[in-house]
Amino acid sequence: ALKIGVLALQGAVAEHIRSLRSAGAEAVPVKRPEELEALDGLVVPGGESTTIGKLMRKYGFIEAIRQFHAEGKPLFGTCAGLIVLAKEIEGGEESHLGLMDMTVVRNAFGRQRESFETELDIKGIDEPVRAVFIRAPLIGRVGPGVDVLSVYKDEIVAAREGSLLAASFHPELTDDYRLHAYFAEMVREVSEAKTQA
Ligand code: GLN
Repeated sequence: ALKIGVLALQGAVAEHIRSLRSAGAEAVPVKRPEELEALDGLVVPGGESTTIGKLMRKYGFIEAIRQFHAEGKPLFGTCAGLIVLAKEIEGGEESHLGLMDMTVVRNAFGRQRESFETELDIKGIDEPVRAVFIRAPLIGRVGPGVDVLSVYKDEIVAAREGSLLAASFHPELTDDYRLHAYFAEMVREVSEAKTQA
């Protein structure tokens, strides 16, 4: 079976594991960079991006995950995880993994309301998805290689660039696991292509 890790430094780890399992994947928490080797994909969960970034540096995850990405293995960042994936953070804050060609704006919806729920149309998923936003970032700019998957009130809230998937909201906080299934499918495609090579 596909094995997908959830970076377990801080944030909503158990919820992602549950959603990934509902989507039919094997899912495990990841606490050390060595554990990445056995995985086909990785989720970077929500939480607080500055804290997650600090812990990633401290435990040697930055280079390890960049390597994981260089091997073609898919990454899925949700909320703070999306910020961690981004090449650029608005306001001049240093980026973390710096992998996905986009500029993110932290706490962009939080200025108006701390949190809210809505139904989102997501490209590649048939029916609208229930989305929970908690002090969520938005994607202010995307590079030419980035495919916008969802927009909320004119702001980009989900996108994909090749093997990178990012969402501003928390798909793991509802029992709708279709975005996790979408990610598991990305992971499956890569691992199948590898076995055939
Ligand atoms: N506001 C958080 C940050 O900027 C993200 C919030 C979340 O992950 N729910 O890191």
